[in-house]
Amino acid sequence: MLVSTRELIDNAVKRNIGVGAFNVTTLSMLQGIIEAAEDVGEGIIIEFATSHETRGIITLEEIGPVMMQYARRAKVPVAVHLDHGVELDYLKKALDIGFTSIMYDGSWLPYEENVANTIKAVELGRQYGVMVEGEIGKMAGGTLTNEKKMEIRDVRRENFTNPDQAGDFVRRTGVDMLACSFGNAHGIYKEPPVLDIELLQEIQEKTQIPLVMHGSSGINEEDYARVIRSGIRKINYYTYASLAASNAVRNAFASDPDKFWKVHELAVLMREAVREKVKRAITLFSNPQ
Ligand SMILES: [Zn+2]
Repeated sequence: MLVSTRELIDNAVKRNIGVGAFNVTTLSMLQGIIEAAEDVGEGIIIEFATSHETRGIITLEEIGPVMMQYARRAKVPVAVHLDHGVELDYLKKALDIGFTSIMYDGSWLPYEENVANTIKAVELGRQYGVMVEGEIGKMAGGTLTNEKKMEIRDVRRENFTNPDQAGDFVRRTGVDMLACSFGNAHGIYKEPPVLDIELLQEIQEKTQIPLVMHGSSGINEEDYARVIRSGIRKINYYTYASLAASNAVRNAFASDPDKFWKVHELAVLMREAVREKVKRAITLFSNPQ
């Protein structure tokens, strides 16, 4: 059933768990993600990032209503989120489709500009009664600018979120959730990531709001529990689910290239691979040991 993002996050705070937020780029992924949540019996967030559209994968107008429909029909609570929005008009488009939360990402901008724009995004969110996620600190990997360019960044300490600035940002903008950078990165890690848990705890102390971890594929299992204990409530997860799907296709061709020549057979393989991977992720996030 469709629920507000707030309901899932409030529940996560109460139970001291993390909510998985899974990016949707294809119908097979969407099906696999929803089935995984139903298998585990936990609520999830499904999300669409602006970059999925600018990279030519699919548009928000096409996939957004489909995501809403799957959320409504699901046997578990599902919220629908717009990830990495860089333009207010685009955020509004998602809200008009019915999305239950939005992220404004101004982390690529000078700090004061990020504050000013995030205030506008929060005002917009308030009009629709939804949660708004902001970001400060530069997440390694890539971030989309509103010139529709992908800015590539490395994991570097000077780009980590500054706890005092995070506190100031939350007070001034009124954001409901904050994405922060403490060693995490988008995409595939070249080396296992070293997360600065102390920094994360300090950010939590200074902000006192639910925190969001992006780039959560490839984090080791103990680290999920550690970040959840330190205030991470929304865990954005895409890369490894996507990788599981493409590996399933690769293995199918390697084992029997003649058998899998119909595209729908590949779609089923991808859906099953996503389902297994996401099931594991939801189980870990909802039982942090
Ligand atoms: Zn992200």
